[in-house]
Amino acid sequence: MDILTILATFLFLVFAFGYGACFGSFLNVVVWRLPSKMPIMLARSHCPKCRQDIWGSDNIPIFGWLRLRGKCRFCQLPISARYPLVETGVALLFAVLFALIVIAHGVTLPTDWMHQHRISWLSEFPGCPLLVVWGDQVVLGYFLLALALVDEDRQQMPYRWLILGLVVHLGLLLIEPSVGMMDYLSATAGDLAENRGNLPDAACFSGVGIVCGFAVALLTMLFRLPHQLRNGIQSLLLLGGFLGPAVLVWCSLIGFSSLICQWILGRFGKKQGVRTGLSAQLFLAWLLVLMTWRWWPEGNWLWMQELLPGK
Ligand SMILES: [Zn+2]
Repeated sequence: MDILTILATFLFLVFAFGYGACFGSFLNVVVWRLPSKMPIMLARSHCPKCRQDIWGSDNIPIFGWLRLRGKCRFCQLPISARYPLVETGVALLFAVLFALIVIAHGVTLPTDWMHQHRISWLSEFPGCPLLVVWGDQVVLGYFLLALALVDEDRQQMPYRWLILGLVVHLGLLLIEPSVGMMDYLSATAGDLAENRGNLPDAACFSGVGIVCGFAVALLTMLFRLPHQLRNGIQSLLLLGGFLGPAVLVWCSLIGFSSLICQWILGRFGKKQGVRTGLSAQLFLAWLLVLMTWRWWPEGNWLWMQELLPGK
């Protein structure tokens, strides 16, 4: 790896982290305001306790909170550590996924594939289709995390959140139709150019995923789940729409197993354990599947393409 590539890799990661921190800051606003129907863009951010406007320099993601040592400048009441944690989390999400998808071409953990990564990832810029693949995963993670946070707050996310997510995915599909197929995470730019999926197949794949999401959502209605059902349904439909039926099924199985473990622990354990909702479980399951996707059977669901008409 030459010095230019190392430098560029570092710079791109710093940029991804910085963008992620800003988006994380915005996510705090979304999670706070959207369920209670407050305007998201117009109003200035203010302290939820004393209602004073927050100074521009205190609003810098992560550092603002650190500088104030977690206390409001005016009323000195503590500001929840959740704000900088969400900002750091989204920043890491952006940077780590950039490293895994764009730089390392879909390396999964444990790293089985290191010998194949291309040290010349920079040569594909500009116009690397993997950037679109990365963008799609980052959007999905962002939307799932928002649902998980709203769900843990015992609020309900309005359905326009789901619609917005699916519209963004559709826009990215128009640019790069292969964007939702897991095995394209590892494709090189050359592979993607030669072997581009087509839009009808991709739309069909996404549609089947959404239908499966509905089916799982109907199943969840049979059980009495903690938290709000509407958030869980939105998470299921987003997962199915973005990544297709196989990933949806795996994530649902992981999520439900975890919910059942929590239930058993809560029932027979001494203490009432942590009980998270379905949305939080699905977000974590998505992270797990994304980091280890090569190890899941049918993770890419390639055989489905052969069932499609015209193949
Ligand atoms: Zn205050």
